[in-house]
Amino acid sequence: MFCPYDLHSHSTASDGTLAPQALVLRAAGAGVRVLALTDHDTTAGIEEASLAARQCGLKLIPGVEISVTWNKQTVHIVGLNVDTDNRTLQQGLSGQREFRDWRAREMADRLEKAGITGAYEGALARSSGALVSRTHFARFLVARGVVSDERKVFKHYLVSGKPGHVPGNWASLEQAVGWIHAAGGEAVVAHPARYRMTRSKLRRLFKDFIQQHGEAIEVVSGSHSRDDYFCMARHAQDLGLKVSAGSDFHSPENPWIELGRLPMPPAGCRPVWADWEIPFDSESNRRVH
Ligand code: AMP
Ligand code: MN
Ligand code: MN
Ligand code: MN
Repeated sequence: MFCPYDLHSHSTASDGTLAPQALVLRAAGAGVRVLALTDHDTTAGIEEASLAARQCGLKLIPGVEISVTWNKQTVHIVGLNVDTDNRTLQQGLSGQREFRDWRAREMADRLEKAGITGAYEGALARSSGALVSRTHFARFLVARGVVSDERKVFKHYLVSGKPGHVPGNWASLEQAVGWIHAAGGEAVVAHPARYRMTRSKLRRLFKDFIQQHGEAIEVVSGSHSRDDYFCMARHAQDLGLKVSAGSDFHSPENPWIELGRLPMPPAGCRPVWADWEIPFDSESNRRVH
């Protein structure tokens, strides 16, 4: 049985390729019953997504994915059920986007030194204008014919030690979790297996997260293997954290995992949605009236 919850996805408001409405329609068509839109450092797509969700009977969870610098490394914290009108959250996100702007220009300067011109304009033209992500640079470099696919751009241009890399200077873990809580939301460590941390470093991240009263970790993720599901489920159970499930869907052309195809979290986990008031029984995935 596929998981009817997908609590991690992106739209054109950040680095996804589907507009919020198109994303919601695709999710509903794929059998998703509860979708969280979690764009990077912005909630600009939530209003359009909520409207579309009401029209097709899907439950939309307002969310966000916040970039964090923890121990000199970038990690992502998802906020679920956030009040998008909250000032503390919006001020925090606005600071993140200012850094993104500065970083985008800096990345373009560095790429220019490596012989690639016009990268800032090229990346900006591929974004909706609100926020520039490394993904937009990757799409520009592929379109320019510099490299053949997005993954290769990251590997050869956009990661540490490569010509277009600029180190992250994001929010602290404490700030990100604080903004999410200020907005009444729940905090989730996104795709923990993707950070390639040693077991002890990952435990330190989880312990720091618990100290900030973080709620859950993503166990089922589009960027996790089956082994990762079970490994992360054990961490969650050990540490008394709830678990989340999300595809991290960005585009139909390049899905980590297609919408509506996530498995249920391993048995014995406490889902982050266990206490939510949702109008259907997630065990049977049937609507209860
Ligand atoms: P940013 O937040 O602007 O630094 O960009 C991070 C985004 O880049 C992630 O959310 C992914 O969507 C994308 N990304 C990161 N690494 C890779 C990769 N190796 N291949 C493709 N996309 C990636
Ligand atoms: Mn992304
Ligand atoms: Mn992420
Ligand atoms: Mn994501």
